[in-house]
Amino acid sequence: MARHIYVHNPFCARKCPYCDFYSITDPSDTEAFYKAAVRETELIGQIITDKTGTNPLTDIDNKDTVYFGGGTPSLPDSRMICELLGVILKTFNIASDAEITIEANPSSVTPEKLNDYRQAGFNRISLGVQSMDDEVLKTLGRLHDSKGAKDAITKIIDAGFSNISADLITGVPGETLEGIRRDIKIFHDLGVKHISTYSLMLEEGTAFFDRYSKTIEDLIPQDIEREMYHGTRECLQNLGYETYEISNSALPGFRSIHNSSYWNSCEYFAIGAGSHGFLGDLRYGHNDDVKAYIEEMNTITAEDLKAFLEGNKCHLKSLYAEEKLSREDKMREVPFLRLRTTEGILLDEFYKVFGVQFEDVFGQAVRSNIDKGLLERKERTLRLTRSGLDIANKVIEDFL
Ligand code: SF4
Repeated sequence: MARHIYVHNPFCARKCPYCDFYSITDPSDTEAFYKAAVRETELIGQIITDKTGTNPLTDIDNKDTVYFGGGTPSLPDSRMICELLGVILKTFNIASDAEITIEANPSSVTPEKLNDYRQAGFNRISLGVQSMDDEVLKTLGRLHDSKGAKDAITKIIDAGFSNISADLITGVPGETLEGIRRDIKIFHDLGVKHISTYSLMLEEGTAFFDRYSKTIEDLIPQDIEREMYHGTRECLQNLGYETYEISNSALPGFRSIHNSSYWNSCEYFAIGAGSHGFLGDLRYGHNDDVKAYIEEMNTITAEDLKAFLEGNKCHLKSLYAEEKLSREDKMREVPFLRLRTTEGILLDEFYKVFGVQFEDVFGQAVRSNIDKGLLERKERTLRLTRSGLDIANKVIEDFL
């Protein structure tokens, strides 16, 4: 069974006004953080016996994955990143054909860093481009312009990476469907294999929330934003990208195996402040606090960590249990995670894992959403229709 590891790098050069991910702009604890992350990995190595992934609802994730996200993992010195990756590969005995991703920002990737990443074993880069329109990039407060983004993609290809993903944000004030189509075409022509498109969300606590929550009319109206979503999907499809999840599209053979593991209810380890993991019945996280993380990883014993990961300790300084899942919780997670995918809920896989038919558990929610035209049954799968996609969260709520 495959293993999945997520590392959260909490450092960014500047806070983007729309972002609510945990990140800090003070780099002074970077070195201590990476030493702590190495220690956390080594401690896990001392306590895992056969903690391999369980519960997969399809066999799509038949490969190991390691994912460095954030934050901006391309910001710190590549020496620290590569050293941590080396310890992870060894500790978890990661297979040589694993998918190993690092998120990068156009403003902080250099040929030297990219070369180090390749030597260390990274084979996939996820680039936070967000737009190829300089005005939109200014609105988003990004540090790069469109030329910087193009140069970054060229550098990544020159460094020998072929598995490249780029992020786009849709629904930004001033953005048009025409502009998004142009951006996607540029990515396609530059050799980008995977495109993630995220709708701009106003998250509480962000500068955008303060700026726009009282002047909501300055944002793109929801019906136009939905048209943009479907227009974007159509454009991706015309260029050969298959949309396999609400926000993710890829050329054949380039789906993100790591992200798919989340939607398939696989286990994954979490390393770093602000990271979240899932082992056995336990969904757990590290607090958004770099200093607490460093302190804890320098003092925690393997026994304490083992007790925590086995669900026998609830709160440490950094680590906390989010939820201990019952069998019913695990069943509810299936529509929650799988309805985001275009493949949908695999009814036979559900029966194989839980020993009951999906519709015996969720019959009412299935029937009412099929009647409303929001859900469709296709052979042995259940998935959102085009109208269902527009209100996916509402449909999913019916199953919770
Ligand atoms: S670079 Fe990414 S993680 Fe950092 S603040 Fe901007 S959007 Fe958030």
